[in-house]
Amino acid sequence: MARNLAPKCKQCRRAGEKLFLKGERCQSTKCAMVKRNYPPGIHGSKGRPRMTDYGQQLNEKQKAKKEYNLLEKQFRLTFEKAKKQGGNTGENFIMLLERRLDNVIHRMGFASSRTQARQFVNHGHFIVNDIATDIPSFIVKTGDVIKIKSNKKDNKNFSNLSDKLKKKEIPGWINLDAKKLEAKILHNPTIKDIKTSFNVQMIVEYYSR
Ligand code: SF4
Repeated sequence: MARNLAPKCKQCRRAGEKLFLKGERCQSTKCAMVKRNYPPGIHGSKGRPRMTDYGQQLNEKQKAKKEYNLLEKQFRLTFEKAKKQGGNTGENFIMLLERRLDNVIHRMGFASSRTQARQFVNHGHFIVNDIATDIPSFIVKTGDVIKIKSNKKDNKNFSNLSDKLKKKEIPGWINLDAKKLEAKILHNPTIKDIKTSFNVQMIVEYYSR
């Protein structure tokens, strides 16, 4: 599977917003958006140029794509799937992005970023409904139970996880049992459950040109 290997902090600086791509570092003063809040490149410090409507739509699309750590092809295919579902395409689209297994692992607090969550899923650390699942794009549904594989619980990546989870804000559509290190999907997320840094309507307009 191809991956986006572009430097993460540059992606935030290009987007002009914190996209929280690096876990704990994003909350610290080491964040590049704290130190250099201007676009990367030799002319970056001159500031951001005014954007056309198209530029704004493109920017929102790029932000969402980077936030969910997807490449253009995967992102576009998800959009097409949302469109085919009928109803509000924008809402369908965010729901599909949110219900990806790698995103859910991140939302559960088992990984500090979506990049790390995807790596954990790829490395086969999780089971969904008692079946080993190593596909980051797997779409969870109501009633699914997600756990760390019993032979992976001692992995150093999950040491002190129960303590870390006490501080984590878990979305209402996921019920986390921090002692058992497992979570159940209570219902599909709604638009109110999701905080995004991007304007999904602009993404719909971008793909509807
Ligand atoms: Fe973005 Fe995080 Fe880097 Fe800050 S530390 S620029 S939020 S990836």
